[in-house]
Amino acid sequence: MKLHEYQSKALFAQYGMPIPRGKLASTPEEARHIARDLGRRVVVKSQVLVGGRGKAGGIQLARNPDEAERVASEILSMEIKGLPVRKVLVDEAADIRTEIYLGVVIDRAQRRVVMMASSAGGVDIEEVARDTPEKIIRVAIDPFIGLRDYQARQIAFGIGLERDLVRDFTSIAQALYRCFLETDASLAEINPLVVTGDRKLIALDGKIILDDNALYRHPELAAMRDIDEEAPAEVEARQRGLSYIKLDGEIGCMVNGAGLAMATMDLTQLFGGSPANFLDIGGGAQADKVAAALRIILADPNVKAVLFNIFGGIARCDEVARGIVTALREVNPKVPMVARLVGTNEEEGRRILADAHLETATTLAEAIKKAVALARGEEAVIELPPAAIKPLPARRVPASKAITRRAVVDGRKPAARKSPIRKVAIRRASKNAKKSKISKVGKVSTKAKGSR
Ligand code: GDP
Ligand code: MN
Repeated sequence: MKLHEYQSKALFAQYGMPIPRGKLASTPEEARHIARDLGRRVVVKSQVLVGGRGKAGGIQLARNPDEAERVASEILSMEIKGLPVRKVLVDEAADIRTEIYLGVVIDRAQRRVVMMASSAGGVDIEEVARDTPEKIIRVAIDPFIGLRDYQARQIAFGIGLERDLVRDFTSIAQALYRCFLETDASLAEINPLVVTGDRKLIALDGKIILDDNALYRHPELAAMRDIDEEAPAEVEARQRGLSYIKLDGEIGCMVNGAGLAMATMDLTQLFGGSPANFLDIGGGAQADKVAAALRIILADPNVKAVLFNIFGGIARCDEVARGIVTALREVNPKVPMVARLVGTNEEEGRRILADAHLETATTLAEAIKKAVALARGEEAVIELPPAAIKPLPARRVPASKAITRRAVVDGRKPAARKSPIRKVAIRRASKNAKKSKISKVGKVSTKAKGSR
C-alpha cells in the first residue's frame, strides 16, 4: 500500500525528521486560507499516488493567498497519469540549494535492508541508476545491529555533503531507517531531501510503501488507505479476498494457488502469450468468488482470452466448475475462454463446463496453447505431442513402494536386479516404519531422550 506524500511526511515528522509546515486542502478556498495562515510563499502540490508530479505540472509555487487559490484550482482540475487530483498539499516554499535523494529499500539479492543516497536528488532514482550509477551510494544494514552512525557518515561523505550538515544528515538517516522498520515498509524515501539557503536539511517530498501483509499490525496505518486512488478492480479484489495484480498482457488468468498462478504466467510467456494479470482465487472458490474474479479480469480492456487453471485439492473441480458457469451467466463475457481442471472430481467438473460450451483441456500446456491461439484470434486446434509423463494411477501408493512406482513414471522399467540404492532406500523406509511403531509403545523414545 502506497502512502501519499502528506501522509509519508506526517510519519517522517513523528520520527523527528524536519518537514516544511503545511496542510492538506481539497478546495481552492482551503488552499487560500492555508497560504494566508502560513503567511509566506507556498508550494501547492497535487496528492496523487504517482511520481513525476513536478514534470506534469502538478507542483506549483504561489507568492500569495490569491495565487495559491488560483494554482490550487488549476491543479485540482488536473489528471496526472490518468489519476484525477482530489487533494493538494499547501506547504511553505523552501529556498532550495541542493537536492539529495535518500531512500531505504529491501535488497533481495543482498538479503538486507539497504540505504541508498545520491547527490542527484529531485529526479527519478531509476533514471540516476540507469544514466549515472556511480552517483548512488549504497549501504547494507545488518538487521541485528541496525544502521550505525559511521555508515550514515559514510553515505554523507559519499554524496559530498559538507561537514556542517553531516550531523543532521546522520539523524535523518537514522530516523528514516527507524520509520521504515517500525512501519513494516518496503520502501521509505525522501526525494528530494534539500539543503536550504540557511543551511538546513528538510524532507520536501516523501514516499512510503507499506507491506500489505504486515498491515494487520498497524491499524492506524491501514486506516490511511485512500480507496479513491486505487483501481476499482484492486479494491474489489481485496474486499473479496483475491490476490490480484494487473499486468500488461492479453491473457486473463484465473488460478487457485499463488505458486500455480506463477507457473501459469511463466508457461503463458513460454508459449508466446503474455498474462494480463496474476490472480489467485485461493482455496474454496465458491461461485460468487469466481464471478468476482471473472468480473475483475474482464474489466481489463486488454484481455483477449481467459484461462482458468484449477487444481482441485481442497476445492473440488465440480464446485469450481459450477462457480464458473454461474459466473459466466452473470457476467456474460465476450472473450473466448479455456479451462483446465484437474484433481478431485475433475471429470464431473469438465462435464459441467463442456455442457456450458466452454473449451476445456486436460494438460496445462494444452490449455495455455489454446488460450494463446484464442487471444490471437486463431482457432484453438492444438496438436499435442504424446504425453511425456504417464499420469499416476489414482489409487494410493504405500510409501515403501513409491520408489518402484517412480521408476515406471520416468519411463524406465524398474531394474530386474534390485540396485543397491533402491535396496537402501526401501530398507530405510521399512526401518522407519518399525521405529515409529516401537516409539508408539514407548521404548525407543525414552532411549532417544537418554542418549541426548
Ligand atoms: P515529484 O515530482 O512527484 O517527485 O514531486 P516533488 O515533491 O519531489 O517535487 C518535484 C520538484 O519540485 C522538486 O524536486 C523541487 O525541485 C520542486 N519543489 C518542490 N517543492 C518545492 C519548494 O518548496 N520550493 C521550490 N523552489 N521547489 C520545490
Ligand atoms: Mn519527488
